[in-house]
Order: sequence, then C-alpha cells, then structure tokens
Amino acid sequence: MYNTVNQLKEYLINYNIKPSTIRLKILEYLLNNPIHPTADDIYKSLLDQIPTISKTSVYNTMDLFADKGVVKVISLDGKVARYDINTCLHGHFKCRVCERVFDFPFSSKIPTPKELNGFVINEIDINFYGVCQNCKKIKEGRFSHR
Ligand SMILES: [Zn+2]
Ligand SMILES: [Zn+2]
Repeated sequence: MYNTVNQLKEYLINYNIKPSTIRLKILEYLLNNPIHPTADDIYKSLLDQIPTISKTSVYNTMDLFADKGVVKVISLDGKVARYDINTCLHGHFKCRVCERVFDFPFSSKIPTPKELNGFVINEIDINFYGVCQNCKKIKEGRFSHR
C-alpha cells in the first residue's frame, strides 16, 4: 500500500512528475481504488476531500499521468476513457449489466501471429464483454422465484 505522503511523492517522482497536492490525492485514489475509474468517478470521489477540485484539473492530471505512463487509458465499448493504474499486461472483462470492469492476468508470451511478422507491436488490448458472476446470479435468482 502507498499510504504515506512520502511514498506517494516518490511514486510520482519516479515517473518524472512534480508532486502537487491534487496529483498526490488522485494517485492515492487510483492506488486504493483500482476499479478503472473514469475522470468523472475520480472527480466525484475527491470532491469531499478537495472542495476546490475542478473537472479540468482532473482531466489535466489524468492526461499527464497517461503521458508519463502512470496509468493506461482504456476504452471499453467505445465509451468514455477509464484509467488503469495496473500498467502490466492484463485482460479486461466488462460486465454489460453492472458496467464493472474486471482484470484478469494475461501472459505476455502469447505467440505473435505470423501475419504480423516484422511488425512493431506497442500495445495489446484483450477485452471480453458479457455478464459477470454476480449479475448472472441475480438474474437467475429473479427467474427461479417466479
Ligand atoms: Zn455485473
Ligand atoms: Zn485493468
């Protein structure tokens, strides 16, 4: 856990980012809530702690974080950008009922398709869509009680 201000500062400095109060607060939120939040989610969650926070400042911070590699920007279902503090290769499952996004490990050793021989691959996105376990249970429960 990165709970102390010093640890958070160090985290940002490692990415060549000058720590400011808002950057530290957003980083702390992301590390403690790895739920792939949108800029809106971040804004709403921090409003209580930082009444002076603006949406623009959240967007600017997230642009900077994405630029420096602190977060990965993911877009699922072509909807708004979500931010992922887990920048290691992993896949996403998006539940189309509750809209939650789940991480699952993905090996970086997947063979490169031969059609892409000689190509430079910068990024791999693995996105699955469907209904999560929880939503599936709720759905089934609803039907069985009829
Ligand atoms: Zn769900
Ligand atoms: Zn993720």
